[in-house]
Amino acid sequence: MSEGVERETVERESMEYDVVIVGAGPAGLSAAIRLKQLAQAAGAEVSVAVLEKGSEVGAHILSGAVIDPVGIAELFPHWKERGAPLEPAVTEDRFVMLGPQSSLGIPTWPMPGFMHNKGNYIASLANVCRWLAQQAEALGVEVYPGMAASDLVLDEAGAVKGVVAGVFGVGKDGTPGPDYQPGVELLAKYTFIGEGVRGSLAKVLKAKFGLHEGRDVEKYGIGIKELWQVPDEVFRPGLVVHTVGWPLDEKTGGGSFMYHFGDHYVAIGMVVHLNYKNPWLSPFDEFQRLKTHPDVRKYLEGGKRIAYGARAVSEGGFQSVPKLYFPGGVLVGDSAGFMNVPRIKGSHNAMRSGVLAAQAAFAAIQAGRGGDELSEYEDAYNRSGIRKELFTVRNAKPLWTRFGTTVGAGLGMIDMWCASLLGGFSVFGTLKHGKTDAQATGLAKDYEPIVYPKPDGVFSFDKLSSVFLSNTNHDESQPCHLKLKDPSVPIEVNLPKYGEPARLYCPAGVYEVLYDDNGQNPRFQINFQNCVHCKTCDIKDPSQNIVWTTPQGGDGPNYPNM
Ligand SMILES: Cc1cc2nc3c(=O)[nH]c(=O)nc-3n(C[C@H](O)[C@H](O)[C@H](O)COP(=O)(O)OP(=O)(O)OC[C@H]3O[C@@H](n4cnc5c(N)ncnc54)[C@H](O)[C@@H]3O)c2cc1C
Ligand code: SF4
Repeated sequence: MSEGVERETVERESMEYDVVIVGAGPAGLSAAIRLKQLAQAAGAEVSVAVLEKGSEVGAHILSGAVIDPVGIAELFPHWKERGAPLEPAVTEDRFVMLGPQSSLGIPTWPMPGFMHNKGNYIASLANVCRWLAQQAEALGVEVYPGMAASDLVLDEAGAVKGVVAGVFGVGKDGTPGPDYQPGVELLAKYTFIGEGVRGSLAKVLKAKFGLHEGRDVEKYGIGIKELWQVPDEVFRPGLVVHTVGWPLDEKTGGGSFMYHFGDHYVAIGMVVHLNYKNPWLSPFDEFQRLKTHPDVRKYLEGGKRIAYGARAVSEGGFQSVPKLYFPGGVLVGDSAGFMNVPRIKGSHNAMRSGVLAAQAAFAAIQAGRGGDELSEYEDAYNRSGIRKELFTVRNAKPLWTRFGTTVGAGLGMIDMWCASLLGGFSVFGTLKHGKTDAQATGLAKDYEPIVYPKPDGVFSFDKLSSVFLSNTNHDESQPCHLKLKDPSVPIEVNLPKYGEPARLYCPAGVYEVLYDDNGQNPRFQINFQNCVHCKTCDIKDPSQNIVWTTPQGGDGPNYPNM
């Protein structure tokens, strides 16, 4: 039990709903809206609660984002007239291959049509979620920010009948502190898990119900992002730039994005595929280096960095999509891995999956069902545009992994072309991903440590000043939410074998290895207060010894418009 208080000893009040949704991201909010829309159209009642661990809706949402409006249009065909904050439309779409000092523009016209950004919109996904939450509340959805769903509630048969949320005031030792609140049980006919990438309840459910059996391994990337405000001279509203290549080497997958929108905002970020091998690599420092490239820097000249954050990205795609339902509930959005990696887009699929799940649940509830398996949702997914687009691009990531950036990404492009023209056919069939990201980590002795340049304080920065801009806060009197299965592993296994890469892959400086005055006796320190909830440690720790659990609701980053 994640909050550390014995389940048997805790008495909780309960609240009953037709549907309880964990996570106020695009998936969860879209599901809530569609449930209410269906009820309205049928003249029926359906009670829906959405729980969000961030202090407000949007506080934990971090995305690019260039958004394909196909998802929001399913909810609100007249989304523009209703004032949805998707603007500007993309006006210019550039793709660039970077060398250390050089750059080569790659024309986008030879790419398959779905890779183009014409007809897409730039936005802060956090602000889109804030807008969706307003629409949901107007329809009668109860949205509860500051409520972390920390545990599942099961019935006697083992089916999910809800979640525990709102546990506060647990002391450092796991016993109730002076302000202890046991939280409530939110019970439902169906529980939707829309926690986004590497959801902590989703992980438990996948293991408990074997949702990944017969599917390929899960794959991830880490996305690190900053928001800049830049002067008129360099601001190009509607401009979208994607890069591959430098500073990453051929064998390390990833690339950068830059979107100009809003009040002179430039959203700039980098995704590094977490199957990178070199344990000395620091995704944060690679991103800082990227911004010093002349062809990147020129867009930030004279500007000011105003926000920072990080979040894992789901990259497994079609072959890694788990079974989508379990007794009493479903997985929606990135908790099910619906991100389209080559397009770097997942929010439209998150919304579409929420809609599909809502439709299945509403029909079941109307038929007097509840607590059973909503297999109709998976059937609907199998007939949907989500499956079709993931199927078309299914080999892009495995080809990149096998053949590196230049050849692999090129082959992936050709494969996507063929698949889009031939109804999904690929000469490769469906390629496997191979190892998990944790297993892909190489040994420290086989790689040269990377010496990163010192931050210049103008374009590149250190971790601590960056975390400051994420407005992250955790009540220090609670237990550390980053649990080590075995506390000896970081120093006794990870340090000698891998150089303890948590120090480097964590984008918030949470993990440190400290030595005494003589440079002896290393010890592992976890500064959990800094955690920006990206979930990378849960994914990349080579020993799979770190388990990310929910801290109390309202803690974590407070992203304004990421
Ligand atoms: C760097 C980066 C760039 C991206 N760029 C784009 C882009 O340009 N276009 C695009 O379409 N997509 C992009 N994506 C992907 C897109 O952001 C995701 O596909 C989308 O956000 C998934 O939506 P979701 O609702 O499934 O999850 P999320 O958006 O992650 O939302 C999940 C919500 O659930 C909450 N939550 C999690 N666990 C709990 C819990 N236990 N209790 C209560 N609340 C909980 C979280 O706080 C969060 O608010 C990008 C992602 C990243 C990281
Ligand atoms: S501790 Fe883990 S989840 Fe938190 S910021 Fe670091 S890597 Fe991300």
